Amino acid sequence: MKIVGLTGGIGSGKTTVAGFFKEFGVPVYIADDAGKRLMNNSPEIKNKIIQLFGIEAYENNLPNRKFIASKVFNDKEQLSKLNAIIHPAVEKDFKSWREKQFAGYIIYEAAILFETGAYKKFDFSILVTAPKELKIQRLQKRDGSSIKEIKDRMNNQWSDEKKSMMADFLIENKELAQTKLQVEHIHSEILKAGKNS
Ligand code: ATP
Repeated sequence: MKIVGLTGGIGSGKTTVAGFFKEFGVPVYIADDAGKRLMNNSPEIKNKIIQLFGIEAYENNLPNRKFIASKVFNDKEQLSKLNAIIHPAVEKDFKSWREKQFAGYIIYEAAILFETGAYKKFDFSILVTAPKELKIQRLQKRDGSSIKEIKDRMNNQWSDEKKSMMADFLIENKELAQTKLQVEHIHSEILKAGKNS
């Protein structure tokens, strides 16, 4: 079964696009949701995170996300230590999920795929892009975030230009109806490629 990576910068609309693939019957694994679920439920992960950041990292048995985010936001070393705890657990969880899927292909959605080199493990990769102004408007509306917060997060990510050179398919997510048409087209291309291989 083919595995297709789906990614995009914050507010690009990758989860929205993943929803369209689901409508076409494609199973979708959302790595960020899995990471959150594992941080909430896995005692092993909890213990490792407390060892890394201290007892304040959990409150009432749940991760203190603001505290953890503040520890890693400007500290690449701490971020990579956190990722070294979460990524292998997500990978294991994904493998067991994958075994239960029956479809022409499955999608793995993650905020970062090119940056970590993970895209190399997939048969295809899809990048969702949108003009910066639209991304900002969407995030302001969805999260009530300030422009500064959004821009700081954007500046921490690779640019769309850099990522688009590495992607097999691009989806420009402006108008939803157009986005859905692009998804339909890519879906049929991937199914065709599956038949030819
Ligand atoms: P994040 O990186 O923050 O998780 P994301 O890339 O997964 O974001 P979405 O959550 O899919 O992005 O979209 C961000 C917001 O923009 C959501 O509220 C979504 O409903 C809205 N949105 C996405 N695409 C469009 C579109 N084409 N037109 C209007 N609103 C959109």
